[in-house]
Order: sequence, then C-alpha cells, then structure tokens
Amino acid sequence: MLDLAALKELLASPQKIVITTHHKPDGDAMGSSLGLYNFLIQQGHHATVIAPTDYPDFLSWLPGNGDVIIYTEHTEKSAELIANANLIFCLDFNALSRINDMGVLVGESKAYKIMIDHHLEPEDFDDYRHWNINACAAAQLVFDFIVNQLYQPEFINKDVATCLYTGIMTDSASFRLPNTSSTVHRIVADLIDAGAVNWRIHELVYNNASEGRLRFLGHCLANCLEVLPEYNTAIIAVNKNDLQKFDVETGDTEGIVNYALSMANVKLAAFMVERGDKVKLSLRSKGEFPANEICKKYFSGGGHRNAAGGVSTDSLEQVIQQFKTILPEYKKLLKQ
Ligand code: 5GP
Ligand code: MN
Repeated sequence: MLDLAALKELLASPQKIVITTHHKPDGDAMGSSLGLYNFLIQQGHHATVIAPTDYPDFLSWLPGNGDVIIYTEHTEKSAELIANANLIFCLDFNALSRINDMGVLVGESKAYKIMIDHHLEPEDFDDYRHWNINACAAAQLVFDFIVNQLYQPEFINKDVATCLYTGIMTDSASFRLPNTSSTVHRIVADLIDAGAVNWRIHELVYNNASEGRLRFLGHCLANCLEVLPEYNTAIIAVNKNDLQKFDVETGDTEGIVNYALSMANVKLAAFMVERGDKVKLSLRSKGEFPANEICKKYFSGGGHRNAAGGVSTDSLEQVIQQFKTILPEYKKLLKQ
C-alpha cells in the first residue's frame, strides 16, 4: 500500500512510469492518460502511455499522442516498460481483465499501481486509489489528483488542459449526462483558462467524420434499427457484412447508439456489432435505468448506469434474441 505522502515523495524525483487504460480506449481513456502524461513529463519523469489496443483516429490529434505505444503492435517493448516501471497508473478502468493480456504483466509487475477511476466495484490490485463513481470522467479525477491531492495546479498547462477537457467532454456526452455537476463546469472553466480551446476540441472530435462513416450511420438508422415500443427500447444491430461493405474502421461505430436513445420515448438503447467471433454490445439509458446491470448480469461487462458495455460469444441473432428475452424483467422500469 502507498499513502498520499509516500506517493508525493516518490513523484518528487524522476520515476519510470507507465500509464495505461482500458482496451479500445475512448476519449476519456486517452484524454485522462495523455493529460496525466503531459503533467508528468513536465517534471522530468520518464513516462509512457501504453494503450492495450488501437483507438479511433478522431483522438490522434491529442497532445502527446505520437508517444503512445500500442501494446498489440509493440508487445515486447510494452512488456519491458511494464517490468521496469516503478509506478503504473491505471486510468479509467478498475479490473485487470479490461486491459486484456496486459493485465497479467501489470499484475506481476513490482511497480506501485495507482488507480484513478470512476467505475463501480474496483478489483483489489492497486496500491493507491483515487476512485469516485460520482465523477463524470476519469479525466475529472486526474484534474482533482493534480490540483487537490498534489497541489500542483501550475502544471495544468495547455496540453494537460486540452487532454482533460477532451476526456470530460466525451464521457459526459458533451456535458449532458446527470453527473455533469457544477463542480465539473468549474473544472471545465479552469481548463479553458489554462488553454483548452473548447470549440476547437469539439470540432476535432465531433466534426471529423469521413463520408463513409456518415453513410454507415445512414445505413444503421435506415436498415438496422428496431424499435420495441412496448419496452421503450431500441436496438441497432450490425453484422460483419455491413462492416465490410462500408469499410468501417475503429471509431466509426462510436456514438451511433445515442441516435437510438434520442427518440422521445426510448429509455434504453442497444448497439450490437459483430466483431470477429464475438458480439460487442453498447447500452445507453436515460435517467435511473441501470444499463450496467444488464451488461454485468448477462453480457460479461459493466460500466455506468447510463452507459455500459459487454460482449458475447453467441451469434448476433442469438444476442438479439437474448436481449429481447431480458426486457420483460425490466418492463416496469422501462415503462415508468
Ligand atoms: P462503450 O459502450 O462506449 O463501449 O462503453 C460504455 C461504458 O461501459 C464505458 O464506461 C466502458 O468503460 C464500459 N464498458 C464497455 N465495455 C465493457 C466491458 O466489456 N466490461 C466492463 N466492465 N465495462 C465495459
Ligand atoms: Mn471514463
């Protein structure tokens, strides 16, 4: 175990640090990781961000992105960095299975592990924890760690601010989810003061789509959407052929589930996509409906109440059927 005083003392001199985050990183995963990275390198630490897998192109402009190592593409180098690290920061996840094969390496490493996370039910693999499920993003907690635990707000420079703004913006669905508190807005104001150009970040993340992505979205809405009015639920299911036909890349499916949720009566939206021999599910909900409970109970996953994900090794048709058979259990909540 490591207390805050001991962690501060360690960080007072240059350390070999690995920062990692969950597989298929999203805006918060990369924003929080690169925010922390840009903070640490100002102080002479030897820090490396290792992403377990690749991530969408719309995050590749983030400051420090050029220094990120992708584990699946540089396995040996990643293993060496993890084995030699003194500190490993685990951001935006709290179970080693979320970083795939890297979980074994991180688990075996002698480095102190620092978890900065906002998901439910953390596993016990860390030495120091900055964890709060009420935070809207891991990036919010990185800000809090720097400003209120390390007392180093002067190190929130433009690069740090840009990355943390991106994490908060994406995980709060552009400041719309219920956990976007007044504290979050104050942090965002501080980040803008520190140099984050808010309108530009929105442009880079949300107005950066290819023509293919838009046509794929059109296909999803026109041909793959099923609305179940008796359960206030909508499903968008996409098979392998669709992915091939539209040349869908990492990131192109991101956010499509929100279109299903944008219908007035829909309380629960599911996006299901065939990836390799698995089906990946993304669930979104409104209000009190616990999307994460369905993912945890039935699809080996988890997440937050209003945004959760999971996976199944069954066929896409079977997953759709299974999902439909689950709905009666939640009918009362869905019809409220
Ligand atoms: P997404 O639908 O964007 O993939 O994920 C939404 C949320 O659910 C994210 O906060 C993500 O961390 C979480 N999540 C997605 N997939 C999984 C999973 O397989 N397991 C767990 N525990 N959480 C997941
Ligand atoms: Mn997050």
